[in-house]
Order: sequence, then structure tokens, then C-alpha cells
Amino acid sequence: MNHRLPDLPYEVVALEPVIDTRTLQIHHSRHHAAYVAALNEALSEYPQLAERSAGWLLSNARSIPDAARPSILANAGAHVNHSLFWRTMTPAGHGAPFGRLADAIASDFGSFDAFKSEFQAAGMKLVGSGWIWLTRSQKNGALRIVSTRDHGNPVTDQQFPLLMNDVWEHAYYLKHQNRRIDYLRDWWGVVDWDEAARRFAHSDHLDAAQSNDGDSLLLDAA
Ligand code: MN
Repeated sequence: MNHRLPDLPYEVVALEPVIDTRTLQIHHSRHHAAYVAALNEALSEYPQLAERSAGWLLSNARSIPDAARPSILANAGAHVNHSLFWRTMTPAGHGAPFGRLADAIASDFGSFDAFKSEFQAAGMKLVGSGWIWLTRSQKNGALRIVSTRDHGNPVTDQQFPLLMNDVWEHAYYLKHQNRRIDYLRDWWGVVDWDEAARRFAHSDHLDAAQSNDGDSLLLDAA
């Protein structure tokens, strides 16, 4: 498998003004593209791993030789996370969750507003680069807000990702500069709650998503 950069599911201008065009262009066509190139390079010496999906690599770290593990995991994580991230945003956001996911958020966090505050607080608390996630536990079905350093992905902790925000500075610095909190607040305006609801509906099936043939739209990259 030669990993490829997925197309954005919308025009590069489509998330204005929340995500400005230049940021989205550089983020996708340079940052994400570089992670894909680095993943392919890291896999070039391991033909048996090169056949595996990026999601499988994340979920099967012990199958990766020690010497190559840091590089393969970092770049596979970056590839999966960004592929999910493009799809978690839309120019046609509803502004709020609905249906069973809305009920679960109200039940597990108290209210949608409380959930948003907690998610933003996790984004502010993260030191350095990383991601903030809404996940569903594969152990007890509870929703959780999780942060990961660098390009970590919560599937390695049996947490199914429903929604994720990239809080690396490259995701917001050109527009929001040092004001990370403004980025975190503005970001709700482009969240795709249809996608989050779809992921929630499939969130009992992390095992299937982790297999090499898993639903590529749930966990994997292009
Ligand atoms: Mn990024």
C-alpha cells in the first residue's frame, strides 16, 4: 500500500472565516502531505508492513520492528488524525449535536455547553502540540474528552474517536496567533455533527475498524 494524501472534502476556501484559506492550504498540502511522504519512506524497508493500513499500524504497534516504530507510529498517527480531522469539519455545520449523540453528551457531560467548555479547557491545558478528542470508551460506552500529545490517537487506549481538534500551532497560528482559546471557540462553527453522529452510530465496532479491511471512513486514512 502506498499511502496517499486524501483530497479535502470541500474547497480550500470553504471553512472561511473560521479556518482561513492559507492555513488550510498549508496544513493540508504541505503538513499532511509531508506526513504521508514520511510514512511511505519509513515503510519502504518493511514490505510486510507496507501492505497494512495506517489504522492497523496504530493498533498493532508491537508488530513494528523497534528501530522503525517511532517514525512509523508518528507518521501513521499524523496521517490518520489529519484524515479524520478534515472530515470532522464542514462549511455547513448545524452548530450542535442531535439525536442519540446529543442525548449521550447531555447525559455524560451535563449539557452541550458544559461539554464545549470542558473540551476547550482540555485544549488550553495541553502543553505543546497535540489533539483534543471526544471519544467513546470501548470498555463501558461512556463518552470522554481525551488529549493526546504530538500525533497520538486514542484508539491505542481503546477509545473510539468521534470528534477531534488539531491544536498544533500550524492549525491556527496564521489567523489566531497566540490566542488558542479564540481558535477553540471559533472551531465549533465548522464542526460536522452529521459526521460525529455517523461515527457515534458505529462506535461499538472499534475492532472492525482496526482490522486491515475495516471501514476506511471510521478510523483510517484515504
Ligand atoms: Mn495538523
